[in-house]
Amino acid sequence: MSLIKRIKHRFNSFQISTKITLGYAACFAMLLLIINAVAWVGVMNALFDPAENALNRSMIRVAQVLENLNANHDSLHADLLENELSLGVVLRVVTDDGVVVVDTDKDYPSNEDFNSGILAEQPSFAEDYLEVSQFKNALIYRGTMYFKPDDDDGATLYFFKTITSELKTFNELENILIGLDVFGMIFALFVGYFLSRKTLTPIKEMNEVAREIVFENMDGRIPISDAKDELTKLGTTLNEMLDRLQKPIKSQQKFVSYASHELRTPATVFLGYVELLENGGADDPEFLKEAMEALRSEANNLQKLLETISFLSRYDQSRLKLDKETLDLDEIVGDVMRKMKISVKTHTIELLNNTPAKIFGDATAVQQMIRVFLENAVKYTPAGGNVKVNSVRDGDKVLLSIADSGIGIAPENQQKIFERYFRVSNQNYKAQGSGLGLAMAKAIADLHDVEILVDSELGKGTTFTLVIPVATGD
Ligand code: ADP
Repeated sequence: MSLIKRIKHRFNSFQISTKITLGYAACFAMLLLIINAVAWVGVMNALFDPAENALNRSMIRVAQVLENLNANHDSLHADLLENELSLGVVLRVVTDDGVVVVDTDKDYPSNEDFNSGILAEQPSFAEDYLEVSQFKNALIYRGTMYFKPDDDDGATLYFFKTITSELKTFNELENILIGLDVFGMIFALFVGYFLSRKTLTPIKEMNEVAREIVFENMDGRIPISDAKDELTKLGTTLNEMLDRLQKPIKSQQKFVSYASHELRTPATVFLGYVELLENGGADDPEFLKEAMEALRSEANNLQKLLETISFLSRYDQSRLKLDKETLDLDEIVGDVMRKMKISVKTHTIELLNNTPAKIFGDATAVQQMIRVFLENAVKYTPAGGNVKVNSVRDGDKVLLSIADSGIGIAPENQQKIFERYFRVSNQNYKAQGSGLGLAMAKAIADLHDVEILVDSELGKGTTFTLVIPVATGD
């Protein structure tokens, strides 16, 4: 594996926080390097340029004086040239014979001392035409010029300038810059690591919540902070997704436990009668009749339950196909009432007023809905009680009420009864049911824009009023 591939592979194995920290530190280091390089060059120029300029100026001025004079060595007096030297510049003139004819600072290191200390490599801050030598603790620049009068031997002019203090300042600054770099890098790594860890904490929390979520328990949710950043948005979206997933899963779990409970009764009844019939019951015509009736009734209940479940499941999946058309509500009400009156002998069932009205809907579904309220009215009214149905026109609505003189519904349960599987537990009054009838009636009502009003008093009775829109044009 190539080095780059290996680095890439290693980098990919890091945590995101480490990757962000390293990336951030690398950018910071680059920035620091650029700033430092600029500062380094700038300071170097600011420190060494004046020294070099002083040497350069001195050399130009002395050269001019010499040109004007064009004199022999004897005229090269120190005081004549000294005036032309910039501050701190030392001049030494040595003839070709090696005689020092001018030396503006006798204590300055000799040429031999300078030559012995010449730096092998020219420092980056020094111009090429200058020589740099280290003598003892001092650093010295030397510029050289050759002068040859017409009527005399030549002489070499050496210009010196000490740059020790400049170099010291420069080195100190270099050390400060390196120190700042190291500090900056450590600081960047520390701050980067801290910030990325803090920023990515929600991801850690999401991971923990996601780990704990199982099919049986989906209650866990990601804690949402006040921040309005992308991670908070992601957390909210994931929580919403969990809500959406949990709802059908919960209702599925509820349904499975409900169905297994509800199917137990008919299964027990079927098995019980079959066993009794096998053990001689079939020979008793009385018992045979009773068994057949019981089995038919259980089978009917079961069929109704399955139809309701199938209806609600299709409703949930938006697969219900309604065949809507203009219907005569009064005909449907009359029809349902006639059938009820035939099958129910224990209660007084009355149709008070049946206003002729046209509605727009699915005939079977509307019938089913009205039947649920009528059957409940009978079911939750003790034998001997009465059920009254009435329909009146109210503007563009028909108010169809089904009132019973039954056990009534406590105020706290009057909305809950429309939830699936909800049944009011009543020790004094037992009635068979699935807890799905009103849920189905509510679904049909919603599909037809029908509003359901409940008015009930415990022990006195209940009135359900269906507010049904009439068909346009009626
Ligand atoms: P069920 O199959 O139990 O009747 P429903 O969904 O039709 O299921 O009704 C839900 C619950 O509402 C019933 O269990 C019952 O407690 C209550 N309820 C419905 N209709 C009436 C009524 N007319 N009078 C009193 N209670 C009623």
